[in-house]
Amino acid sequence: MDWCRWLLSRALRLRYCDIYERAEHRLTDTPKSISIFGATGSVGTSTLDLVRLDPAAYHVVALTAHNNADALAALAREFNAELAVVSDESQYEALKTALEGTDTKTAAGAEALLDAASLAADWTMAAIVGCAGLAPVMRSLEQGKTVALANKESLVSAGALMMAAARKSGATLLPVDSEHNAIFQCLQGGKVDEVRRITLTASGGPFREKTIDEMRAMTTAQAVAHPNWDMGAKISVDSATLMNKGLELIEAYHLFPVGLDKIEILVHPQSVIHSMVEYRDCSTLAQLGAPDMKIPIASALAWPQRMATDCAPLDLASIGKLSFEELDNERFPAPSLCRSAIAEGGARPAILNAANEIAVAGFLDEKCGFLNICEIVSATLDRYHSVVPASIQDILAIDDDARNVARDVLSNYR
Ligand code: NAD
Ligand code: MG
Repeated sequence: MDWCRWLLSRALRLRYCDIYERAEHRLTDTPKSISIFGATGSVGTSTLDLVRLDPAAYHVVALTAHNNADALAALAREFNAELAVVSDESQYEALKTALEGTDTKTAAGAEALLDAASLAADWTMAAIVGCAGLAPVMRSLEQGKTVALANKESLVSAGALMMAAARKSGATLLPVDSEHNAIFQCLQGGKVDEVRRITLTASGGPFREKTIDEMRAMTTAQAVAHPNWDMGAKISVDSATLMNKGLELIEAYHLFPVGLDKIEILVHPQSVIHSMVEYRDCSTLAQLGAPDMKIPIASALAWPQRMATDCAPLDLASIGKLSFEELDNERFPAPSLCRSAIAEGGARPAILNAANEIAVAGFLDEKCGFLNICEIVSATLDRYHSVVPASIQDILAIDDDARNVARDVLSNYR
């Protein structure tokens, strides 16, 4: 009996050592091949900052951007990328000229993005903003890739289809959004069916203490000035309306199948606890860290290992106090809109997401006020109903229609 146990434990130990050594070998001797969709954005550049810490450990396959050809070309040169893609075709000549004399191939347009997603890579960062990221992320998932997902709008619009594609192909989806990355890490301490509650923390955004009347007058500059995080313009406005937290609720619903009623939102202004998982024994695991996206990105980039970063370590003594508040659903209706949309299912989250993208762009272009954003989303949901989408093509068509309805609603303002 003891002999059997010894043999078994030795076999397990050998197996784990073998796996560990192979993983170490991969990290040190063979560069990890990576592609970054949305390379010029906030998440994309943070990812490349991590690559800069040890460039020899990575081989950059594809880098993409929408229309900033010069910034993309500079990154492609620096990282000696195989391919650089601008999705905006009018920027192709500029990209091609900027990369003349290098080994980097260039391409442009929506099909080129899909071709880039088809290239072999060990790890893909999905950091395009908005539903525009959906088609390339789906292509990566269908090919069974390891996808680090920052592009939450794709999961909001097409969560069921994306999760089904990942299951079918055996793709690995690594959550990058700080809350979902935190939950992913906390779930390593138990099983999904042992979860009693998931708590998504929310900073409350820049207008946490503002009255409705004060919010009505808020400018774009005030809305994008997040107190804790430095992010792209769209997600910064989403954080001010708390639509970001609603989108994250939908994101969590798809990534962690515990049921919508077990996912809660808690306001935590310091953004130190990134989210929590409570198990059925009433143990709560939380992931903490400085509010720096490089930390969750590093967790996904090195997964299943850990990499050294240059991020600031957490200094709880100087932070002093962590505080918590209930969400105010009256001043911030967005999370309730998202909860209803996911409960209704079908195309509702895709419609909500499309309307929000139009409303946020309208606000950034000063075509409507801050409080009008949620009004536009709500009015679009009231006016537009659609069949349950069965494919990505259906989702993209619904997204298009919902945008038209939202544009029409937006045109009534200012
Ligand atoms: P960003 O605006 O800084 O960058 C967006 C990137 O996508 C850029 O490279 C841009 O060129 C590209 N892009 C924009 N429109 C495009 C289009 N139509 N087609 C193809 N490419 C396009 O955005 P970000 O803040 O880096 O956010 C990226 C994604 O990550 C978003 O979905 C956001 O919600 C999510 N996210 C961001 C943060 C953050 O801290 N920035 C945190 C969590 C999640
Ligand atoms: Mg987040």
